[in-house]
Amino acid sequence: MLNIILMGPPGAGKGTQAKKLIAAYGIPHISTGDMFREAIKAGTPLGKEAAGYINEGRLVPDEVTIGLVKERLSKADCQHGYLLDGFPRTLPQAEALKELTSELHSPISGVINFSCDKDELIRRISGRRVCRNCGAPYHVETLKPKVEGVCDICGGELYQRKDDTVEALKTRLSVYYKDTKPLEEFYRQEGLLHEVDGLLGVDELFKKINVIFREVDQR
Ligand code: AMP
Repeated sequence: MLNIILMGPPGAGKGTQAKKLIAAYGIPHISTGDMFREAIKAGTPLGKEAAGYINEGRLVPDEVTIGLVKERLSKADCQHGYLLDGFPRTLPQAEALKELTSELHSPISGVINFSCDKDELIRRISGRRVCRNCGAPYHVETLKPKVEGVCDICGGELYQRKDDTVEALKTRLSVYYKDTKPLEEFYRQEGLLHEVDGLLGVDELFKKINVIFREVDQR
């Protein structure tokens, strides 16, 4: 079973690897950040509640986020595994997830923890551009599209997320170090933590994660 968590600071490469992994393994990608952004775009009550927190780089309250993930993980397409990206981000979220997966009789099988130094995170995030339509990630220096401002995959418009500005990023990084980094210890104690180097190239990192997936899947 592949019930996997991708964990690490913003900009460490989780989203890019998630896109490759879901294509390779055919399991659903559950990104709480994407779910919130979709709700904001659609103007739902959830989106209205989450927008203020997200634009400032703060965390959406635990009870809202946990409720959203509970509903999503209970859907049929998660029965054969899933890739959680951006959840859990706090200890109460990790505890709620443990309880939920035990109720579902399908525990988390592994946590891939991406490490990356702070200067590199700032460089990556402040230059990041994302396709408004399909969510594909680009970078103004290191991953340019063929035509400026246009997605290579679907032709959608590329934009900078409001929370990728230097100001919001400072908040996101301090939130990460304060609330999310302690989860490394939580999952180390559970025997689930697998460390990977987010500074590696996309393909090299993908190979390493594949090795971990194979190991975890055989247990
Ligand atoms: P991401 O796309 O994962 O960087 O998430 C973007 C933003 O969505 C975060 O900065 C938070 O404001 C919000 N968010 C995403 N996941 C969570 C979570 N697990 N708990 C609280 N807020 C979250």
